[in-house]
Amino acid sequence: MLNLSNPALLKQSSFINGQFIQQNDRDLFDVVNPSSGLCISQVVNAGGLEAEQAVLAADGALSTWRKTTAATRCELLKRWHQLIVDNSQDLARILTVEQGKPLNEAAGEIAYGASYIDWFANEAIRQYGETIPSPTSINRGIALRQPVGVVCAITPWNFPQAMIARKAAAALAAGCTFVVKPSELTPLSALAMAYLAEQAGIPAGVFNVVVGADAPEIGKVLTQHPLVRKFSFTGSTAVGKQLNQQCAATIKRVSMELGGNAPFIVFADADLDAAVAGAMASKFRNAGQTCISANRFIIHESVKAAFIDKLQNEMATLVMGDGLEAQSAIGPLIHRQAVERVRQLVVSAIEQGARLHWQQSVNDNQQPCFYPPTLLEQVENTMTIAQTEIFGPVVTIQTFSDEAQAISLANDTDYGLAAYFYARDIGTIWRVSEALDFGMVGANEGAISNASAPFGGVKQSGFGREGSKHGLDDYSEIKYVCLGGLGT
Ligand code: ADP
Repeated sequence: MLNLSNPALLKQSSFINGQFIQQNDRDLFDVVNPSSGLCISQVVNAGGLEAEQAVLAADGALSTWRKTTAATRCELLKRWHQLIVDNSQDLARILTVEQGKPLNEAAGEIAYGASYIDWFANEAIRQYGETIPSPTSINRGIALRQPVGVVCAITPWNFPQAMIARKAAAALAAGCTFVVKPSELTPLSALAMAYLAEQAGIPAGVFNVVVGADAPEIGKVLTQHPLVRKFSFTGSTAVGKQLNQQCAATIKRVSMELGGNAPFIVFADADLDAAVAGAMASKFRNAGQTCISANRFIIHESVKAAFIDKLQNEMATLVMGDGLEAQSAIGPLIHRQAVERVRQLVVSAIEQGARLHWQQSVNDNQQPCFYPPTLLEQVENTMTIAQTEIFGPVVTIQTFSDEAQAISLANDTDYGLAAYFYARDIGTIWRVSEALDFGMVGANEGAISNASAPFGGVKQSGFGREGSKHGLDDYSEIKYVCLGGLGT
């Protein structure tokens, strides 16, 4: 099914201290293709014991890794980046069969993830400290930047490669060692990354991957082990809250990239074709299963009918199907429970007064994990669907009459990750950008994320920034050195 040019990329067990662990008599768990429901591969089920081994391996490797020169870390990261680029077609196939997204999107994710490794390779050699103007004539102050130490991370299934790449690249560039637990639904992309890290010459223990079906058991070790100095999480707000509490007992540094509830506002003067193109990019990537996906369309009442017409025409062109088939633009959702969850949200919206404007028809032989693109109007911000991260290909339309109302509706959510709006008036663009209570704003742009941008949220969407020149901050400590007795 996979037809890989480089079959060595397909690994089946955790990667700890430079080795893929032996299978022996351990339990296995299935990795399932959500498109077909078939098992792609079985993976050795690691647990708390292996998580502990990985933390010890990362701690063992730390003293050497933190002393490597920035130039060495840069070079190793560049090699890892190049190997990912060289193997990108195979990596995309692995990603598509375990996650479901169309192959061209999977290839996009591999390139996107790789770009963070390249970015942080370049940031490693530009991590400057400071000299501080001293209040006395005999002292000098210096701020050094040093690695935090052992970093552990837990990542989700919606971007199985990129969410690991952007954490690991920053951690390694800063001189930290790293342990990641990927989602049990998508372990294969993570293990392929580990194989390529090893091929790139990244030393044993610096990058470790623990794959197992019991997330809480592994998570306990990664969040509570006293040798772990920093914990980074991408996933749901509910799990993030719990993991943040688990980290509190040992006062770890924490970054949390959690759920979103992105508004997508279209003002009366907007370029509607551009707004529809931005809506398609933001809403339907990964079948809507992204934390920055537009969740609430808030449309000026004067352009609502035109916007809906244009958007529906575009939505009707989306072909649902298996991600390996060339024409597929929308793959399956991750599993049946995800489909059921989205279906329930749509049913509850209709019960609460929303109107089903349009829904793509579903092919009878489509597997149960597919949910069709759907357009709801007459949605109110108080409805469950407007206050929940939909994580599916469902557009919900609300309307507004003036700027203050649009901003108030947009900000009326516990989340604060991404927001989008389309307008042409420069005053509107400034005011609304400043007023939106979100970590990221797309002003006339629906695809906002890249390695140079600080990615992260506010409110219950979390804290910390990934990517950009700020991305190393979460992985480095500032140490103040006061040089005294220097004379005058
Ligand atoms: P999603 O809703 O996107 O599946 P989750 O927050 O459930 O997001 O999962 C994100 C990651 O968190 C996955 O790797 C998952 O295995 C892990 N996870 C879920 N629950 C726990 C937990 N109690 N402890 C540790 N990790 C967890």
